[in-house]
Amino acid sequence: MGRLIVQKYGGTSVGNPERILGVAQRVKGYIEKVDKVVVVVSAMSGETNRLVALGEEVWGPQFNHRELDVLYSSGEQVSVALLSLALEKVGVTAKSFLADQIPLRTDGEFGRARIVEIESKSLKEAIADGIVPVVAGFQGVTADSLITTLGRGGSDTSAVAVAAALDADECEICTDVDGVYTADPRIIKKANRLDQITFEEMLELASLGSKVLHPRSVAVSYTHLRAHETPEHLVCRLLLE
Ligand code: ADP
Ligand code: ASP
Ligand code: MG
Repeated sequence: MGRLIVQKYGGTSVGNPERILGVAQRVKGYIEKVDKVVVVVSAMSGETNRLVALGEEVWGPQFNHRELDVLYSSGEQVSVALLSLALEKVGVTAKSFLADQIPLRTDGEFGRARIVEIESKSLKEAIADGIVPVVAGFQGVTADSLITTLGRGGSDTSAVAVAAALDADECEICTDVDGVYTADPRIIKKANRLDQITFEEMLELASLGSKVLHPRSVAVSYTHLRAHETPEHLVCRLLLE
């Protein structure tokens, strides 16, 4: 039995067609090494900001409306389709999954929904058939089939929750910095990269607004790892793309 890895690629990693093809090559390399990969992606960088601005122009600054979540979630629909095409292009069989195709169920809090359940059957069937599932991050669906979003930065949480649902060996968050630092390395040049960090410290960093991991993703991974009696420390495996 090979290992199963969930890899999440953020907006910068899928920011243009060239990068998307680069991600596809990278995923192909992992398949050769670890056997099974599930990919979770964010919208292309700048896209969710653009959608939020559009919504604001029409509707105003209020965030929680069912149609706004239909709007915001569309960015991830574009990136899963493009990455699936890119994977096919480099010779990897892939299939995109929107939240309602999994389904990845959430409560009905538009703009900040919480994941309540992920039905793993469709993803597991794809994996068993040798297909790489490319899952749309950030979005969910309610029991009444309404589209929801998990809050800005929520694809990290989608990835960790998918990894937990599939009992994956690892969840890798690939982003535009090469790890978690003592402070935002783009602002504080002297910030140091951390080899490991406790869940409490990571949760604090995330809750204070450091974008590097979505706060719920830390909480979900902690709960899941505790259930499996694994270490108290979160090993930082954020990868620079
Ligand atoms: P992605 O689109 O991959 O999810 P984000 O922009 O959401 O990427 O998160 C990565 C960004 O988080 C980095 O570019 C960095 O500026 C910022 N950041 C804030 N605090 C930290 C920190 N303590 N360590 C690393 N990066 C941080
Ligand atoms: N695309 C969404 C956002 O920009 C989710 C994410 O990037 O994690 O907030
Ligand atoms: Mg993010």
